[in-house]
Amino acid sequence: MLEKRNFYINGEWVSPAKANDLNVINPANEDPCAVISLGDQADTDAAVAAAKAAFGAWAATPKEQRLDLIKALYAEYKNRAGDMAEAISMEMGAPIDMARAAQVGAGIWHIKGFIDSFDAVEFESTPWPDTPSEKIYREPIGVCAMITPWNWPMNQVTLKVIPALAVGCTVVLKPSEESPLSSIIFAEIVDKAGFPKGVFNMVNGDGVGVGSQLSCHKDVDMISFTGSTRAGSLITKAAADTVKRVTLELGGKGANIIFADADEKAVIRGARHCFANTGQSCNAPTRMLVERSRYDAAVEQATEVANKTTMNDPAQSGRHIGPVVNKTQFDKIQGLIEVGMGEARLTAGGLGRPEGMNRGYYVRPTVFADVSNDMTIAREEVFGPVLAIIPFDTEEEAIQIANDTVYGLTNYLQTQDPAKAERVAKRLRSGMVRINGSDSAHPSPFGGYKQSGNGREGGIWGLEDFLELKHVSGLGS
Ligand code: NAD
Repeated sequence: MLEKRNFYINGEWVSPAKANDLNVINPANEDPCAVISLGDQADTDAAVAAAKAAFGAWAATPKEQRLDLIKALYAEYKNRAGDMAEAISMEMGAPIDMARAAQVGAGIWHIKGFIDSFDAVEFESTPWPDTPSEKIYREPIGVCAMITPWNWPMNQVTLKVIPALAVGCTVVLKPSEESPLSSIIFAEIVDKAGFPKGVFNMVNGDGVGVGSQLSCHKDVDMISFTGSTRAGSLITKAAADTVKRVTLELGGKGANIIFADADEKAVIRGARHCFANTGQSCNAPTRMLVERSRYDAAVEQATEVANKTTMNDPAQSGRHIGPVVNKTQFDKIQGLIEVGMGEARLTAGGLGRPEGMNRGYYVRPTVFADVSNDMTIAREEVFGPVLAIIPFDTEEEAIQIANDTVYGLTNYLQTQDPAKAERVAKRLRSGMVRINGSDSAHPSPFGGYKQSGNGREGGIWGLEDFLELKHVSGLGS
């Protein structure tokens, strides 16, 4: 079993202040695969103090030098892609090929995106050319604490750590206690890249411990959080007394509107997307809204996709899906499937593990038809491979159903009528709309409306989230 008890503080791997071991469980076999430490207030304080001490010099480092270090990190991240994929696969159950391509790949995409977007940041500007005595400066906000989840570990770590470091902030990262191994490798990558001491720090811990300690710490200037709406709300309250900036990327209950004129692969694509990463994505299209004339065929097609989706050991190569992350999630999903069975029509999957599997947190890809949007299965974020299919009759009704949720992260729509696509996209209350299976071709803003959070991660928008604005007048007077 791997022993990974140390934290990365002030450029060194240090022992925890107090022993507090936690086993990391491999969700594929329910056995411990590593032991880490949960940090204590003293560890949190040491990491924040290191970040605070390093801030002045790092903020004053020429931006070209900071960018060079990010480029060194990028090269080392790619060198470690194999180790990273294995760690992610073992800690949260992503199948190894998917872990390498999508999980590790998301980090590669984001780091490159920030490098490419960096030149566009206006650290100094003169917005009124006839008044050169007035300038706008954009300055790093300070010490940033980052609290990340387990579902896309490196996607979220890179979306936060890279832009913060690039613009001159210093960082304390607390990864999810469910997926700490990938972040330990990430800290090794930062170390190898040669960042100055204290600029990046990493402490393992849980939400009530290190997470809460960071949220209310007087020397932390900003919290960047991804995870549940529950924790996001607690963090916001804890941060209020010290008036920190808090950015949140929370849950979702994305609608996928399939109009009658959608291309013939639309349903299959949507169902596969829902089951990808075993349903553990905040932007998963979990409510499939289908225009009545295609509804029966869509139910049949989605059911077939679920029945054909194979589950297997994440360590095995192939296109299967893996288990969900842990027993808590497994039990929560089972509970929601049971509720769904009482309110809608189950057409695939259902309770219990897939046939022939008696170990590991494997969930059967599940489809509910005849769902109405007021049912629990349409309202709660399941965070498992569970699809709810809802019929609709008119464009207006589809928009109303899609927007009738506390979330607003990503919505999807499928139609071959470009005018309708644009009209509907503009009326969906979400941070992102994806039409006909498209995705962003550029580093773009990721984030939500309503209870899906605030702030935007990725590209220039993600860099700007870590900056303060300063207006100076009277220059040269
Ligand atoms: P969580 O929100 O409890 O945990 C995410 C991170 O927040 C972890 O690092 C955790 O240690 C930390 N945390 C938890 N409580 C905290 C607190 N009070 N103060 C500070 N930090 C705290 O999420 P989870 O338990 O891992 O998953 C539960 C649900 O969260 C899932 O079912 C899903 O709905 C949602 N979720 C959403 C995303 C997303 O990307 N939007 C990611 C993971 C989980």
